[in-house]
Amino acid sequence: MALYVQKFGGTSVGSVERIKAVAEKVKGFRDQGHQIVVVVSAMSGETNRLIEMASQINEEPTPREMDMLVSTGEQVTISLLAMALHQLGVKATSYTGAQIGIRTDSAHTRARIQQIETDELRADLDEGKVVVVAGFQGVDSEGNITTLGRGGSDTTGVALAAALKADECQIYTDVDGVYTTDPRVCAKARRLESITVEEMLEMASLGSKVLQIRAVEFAGKYNVPLRVLSSFEDGPGTLITADEEISNMEEPLISGIAFNNNEAKLTVLSTPDVPGVASRILGPISDANIEVDMIVQNVAPTGGYTDFTFTVAKNDFRQTQRILQEQVIPSLGGGEVRGDDKIAKVSLVGVGMRSHAGVASRMFRVLADEGINIRMVSTSEIKISVVIDEKFLELAVRSLHTAFGLDKADVSEEH
Ligand code: ADP
Ligand code: ASP
Ligand code: MG
Repeated sequence: MALYVQKFGGTSVGSVERIKAVAEKVKGFRDQGHQIVVVVSAMSGETNRLIEMASQINEEPTPREMDMLVSTGEQVTISLLAMALHQLGVKATSYTGAQIGIRTDSAHTRARIQQIETDELRADLDEGKVVVVAGFQGVDSEGNITTLGRGGSDTTGVALAAALKADECQIYTDVDGVYTTDPRVCAKARRLESITVEEMLEMASLGSKVLQIRAVEFAGKYNVPLRVLSSFEDGPGTLITADEEISNMEEPLISGIAFNNNEAKLTVLSTPDVPGVASRILGPISDANIEVDMIVQNVAPTGGYTDFTFTVAKNDFRQTQRILQEQVIPSLGGGEVRGDDKIAKVSLVGVGMRSHAGVASRMFRVLADEGINIRMVSTSEIKISVVIDEKFLELAVRSLHTAFGLDKADVSEEH
């Protein structure tokens, strides 16, 4: 008998029929004698629908009311799933995040879980009940409902698995595992048997939305065995493991390709090349709570002027442009602002890079052969990211996928 936390995403609970199918699946595990905690998301499209309604009323609603609003999506699915389980003769109780004691800080819309109470959960499980928990939400010390950021139900699942020391946290979704890249963009993408926590963290932070990054962080920190599987068909899925030996038996150079077209690029041209300029540019941006991702500063010819380029989320593009125009340029005493929100970031990820030189030059050659211009580059030990024009995104992903031997048909690189 094992204890599993099973999270079902939006598409998996996207209709009454699908909720019934989830109940059947959960019943199958109960019938084998396992203890089950189920975490569900809102029905697919529901969170977006709620956000859209809010935007029709107020361009900047207070974060507290946003959380009050968007947390309702999950309350619908927990109750329907509990009802579907009852219908199959399975004992089950649904709980909101607050009811089950998922305590978070007060950072509305991006709260962090601080503590989870497990007494009630354990009591229910010991009585043979399936516990159905609303993903994505918690409660702060004042009793306000909070949410954990988009895709946050993954984090609820992993955090519950950590708190309960579950045997495995299973993330059921609309693909049958973690792929070498998004299978919706590259038909030749291949499911990975396993991937290291470290690589999955990079993939998630660089744009692969199959798992929320905080869920992967939790899994790494608390050693939670984590698996991504299909809701719709049986299969082994992908294991996310701390063990590089398991994950990289064939030591592939690259494990996956992540991409993100949710960023915009800003350049301050002709800034004086003197100490303090970078901080004068980025200070007001960070004061406005805008997160900066990639940063590039050109080397200036002696005694001259330089260009300073950085990226922010597309949502923050207009505001960043305004801050640069109104605050930064006057404080620098000159310069010119250029912006581009039609960019994409494509990243190669793999622990194999540590022991192999030449990944970057190979990447640049592949992109050059396709006539794709590289606008920015950033590297770390296990990843290389380039910023390119958005219109080349799919071409870049597919040609890199082939060039680095990740295509499905290439059995020699299978691992
Ligand atoms: P859920 O609603 O179940 O949480 P998401 O839509 O958040 O599902 O995440 C699953 C989606 O992630 C897939 O449909 C796929 O398009 C996308 N995805 C992006 N990168 C990858 C990848 N490397 N492997 C698998 N899926 C990926
Ligand atoms: N419903 C939330 C969202 O759409 C949380 C989740 O699905 O994980 O972001
Ligand atoms: Mg998701």
